[in-house]
Amino acid sequence: MGESENSRKEAAAKIIAAPGKFKICESCGSIVVKKADVCPNCNAYRFDASSAAVIAQAELLAARAPLSVEHEDYN
Ligand SMILES: [Zn+2]
Repeated sequence: MGESENSRKEAAAKIIAAPGKFKICESCGSIVVKKADVCPNCNAYRFDASSAAVIAQAELLAARAPLSVEHEDYN
């Protein structure tokens, strides 16, 4: 079905449409909401809030192969 892939791409599209609401964790590369004080992933507190960096990271996210086990359900 690729449902998770669609939602991942949707999430990436939303981020790309409003990059000013997000920032990139400089430690782990996660996209986090701008109001977050620390990265929910790795607790780092250094971020790159430039729109160009956010968009680039979101595009990467959209293109990345799923990491989870969902594929095993369909193959
Ligand atoms: Zn992080």
